[in-house]
Amino acid sequence: MNNLTIGKVVCVGRNYAAHAAELGNEVPTQPLLFIKPASSVRYIEANNNTPIAASFHDVPRDIKYDVHYETELCVQISKDLTNASIEEVKDAINAVTVGLDLTLRDLQTKLKDKAQPWERAKCFVGSCVLGEWVTPETFGDFTDVHYQLYINDVLTQDGDTALMLFPVYQLLVDISHAFGLQAGDVVMTGTPAGVGMLNAGDKLKLLLGGHTWQASVV
Ligand code: ZN
Repeated sequence: MNNLTIGKVVCVGRNYAAHAAELGNEVPTQPLLFIKPASSVRYIEANNNTPIAASFHDVPRDIKYDVHYETELCVQISKDLTNASIEEVKDAINAVTVGLDLTLRDLQTKLKDKAQPWERAKCFVGSCVLGEWVTPETFGDFTDVHYQLYINDVLTQDGDTALMLFPVYQLLVDISHAFGLQAGDVVMTGTPAGVGMLNAGDKLKLLLGGHTWQASVV
């Protein structure tokens, strides 16, 4: 596992049917992609109670938005991929972790209603929360990976990559064609059902393959 610099974060929307249904969205026929900038990334230290803000203050408009969580399996790319084949992406994962795609859901809904881009709701500083990277070897072909979010010791999101509409390798192939990927880029592979709002005082615990990361909502 190399220490690579993140250039961009590619996110996948509606990659689990149950999550698409809970927000009243149709299941896509090809991966729904958007990008968070590198400036959105914030790491949780292992077993450290990293603080995460429960609200986002749009200062010039003086509007406060609630922050919502989406727990996602995240992979970091080890080499440049452009128009890649499935064979090429198989050994192109540098590291794995679990992360939170933080979203200003009220604002996102307003933007969607106006057919405007989502970035204001998805790309704020700290909106891509990542656990520390772990080596990919124990995760096989990523079709049977389990990851969880506990909030205040209650299992809130229970991720199983077997339920993905587009599995990880297929996503990487598609993204390599749509945007191209560079070594260090991150892919957030979509959230399972159970998304919701963060509340000040919540204790978050993210679990993946024997690793645990903790954060506190402030
Ligand atoms: Zn997401």
